[in-house]
Amino acid sequence: MEYIKNLELEKLEKKIEELGEPAFRARQIFKWLYQKNVSAFSEMTDIPKKFRAILDNTFHIDSLKLLEEITSSDGSVKFLFGTRDHYVIESVWIPDPPRYTLCVSSQVGCAMDCAFCATAKLGLKRNLDPGEIVDQICLARRSQVIRNKITNLVFMGMGEPLANFENLIAAIGIITQNLGLQFSSRRITVSTAGLVPKLEKLGEMGLQVNLAVSLNATTDETRNFLMPINKKYPLKELIKACREFPLPKRKRITFEYILIEGVNDSLEDAKRLVNILKGQRAKVNLIPFNPHPGTKFRRPEEEKILRFQKVLFENNMTAIIRDSRGEDIGAACGQLGLSYLMKNKEVSKHGASGTGF
Ligand code: SF4
Repeated sequence: MEYIKNLELEKLEKKIEELGEPAFRARQIFKWLYQKNVSAFSEMTDIPKKFRAILDNTFHIDSLKLLEEITSSDGSVKFLFGTRDHYVIESVWIPDPPRYTLCVSSQVGCAMDCAFCATAKLGLKRNLDPGEIVDQICLARRSQVIRNKITNLVFMGMGEPLANFENLIAAIGIITQNLGLQFSSRRITVSTAGLVPKLEKLGEMGLQVNLAVSLNATTDETRNFLMPINKKYPLKELIKACREFPLPKRKRITFEYILIEGVNDSLEDAKRLVNILKGQRAKVNLIPFNPHPGTKFRRPEEEKILRFQKVLFENNMTAIIRDSRGEDIGAACGQLGLSYLMKNKEVSKHGASGTGF
């Protein structure tokens, strides 16, 4: 059995023809899957009954299973999803009217090994399929709490999206398809730790998505320590690739900068950041570190955070302090997934048949 949400429209058309029906059925099915968000072929009432039975024997509809939905006191919602091989991934919905953003995962775990990140401790288990990426949106849309309200998508959940490039692009294809999830690419942000060749490839594809770069340091020494990917693609290369990235009109690259006490929060760091980003269409998100169990890092004092921001302001840069939302549910990068995996060792292990749930 295949997972139908892994297939982009053209691939589904081909498959439907192989099953003996005209290709236009794929367009009907796409509407049911993504606009009506059904969970059973029996609900697809304009498809002949006989063919619905064939579809039912050929495909799974959902690629993920909702395990838990946890609402934070600040209104954000964390979704925990189970995969067919019994891993747990997460998405977080962040209401900030008129923006309602879903933060989506792209991998189970992550190989990037960033020193400040809880997900990094899992290592990389595997890439998510296109259907598993897309289904985070479909299943979240079924939630009674969020009631279909998702205006923006950010690929900032578990994993490095550009390390799962092919599946990411296939998923974006379904997400932006007219008959699919109908998101404008301008409402999609892909975040990277700095995989330079893939960042360049993304730019060449001309998808017009927004780009966020997790920067977090202003010297190679500190960045090597915080983000080992920097040893392969150092700051200079990363910033050059950012400068050459074809941005849509009036768009800027978002640079994420997690402020960590005594590591990257000095005035010198702030001044270097100004220099590094000089001439770049950029906005900076300053994110005070949100400590999680087992970390040695601390959040800087409020005064230090404001001083850092002031240096950027004085140099005419846009710099917004963003506290992680949903701290009480562990919504910052990978935290709840990690604690869940720790508590439910049997859930985190392989062992499923691989044929659904
Ligand atoms: S911060 Fe992002 S890229 Fe780095 S280890 Fe965590 S999930 Fe991976």
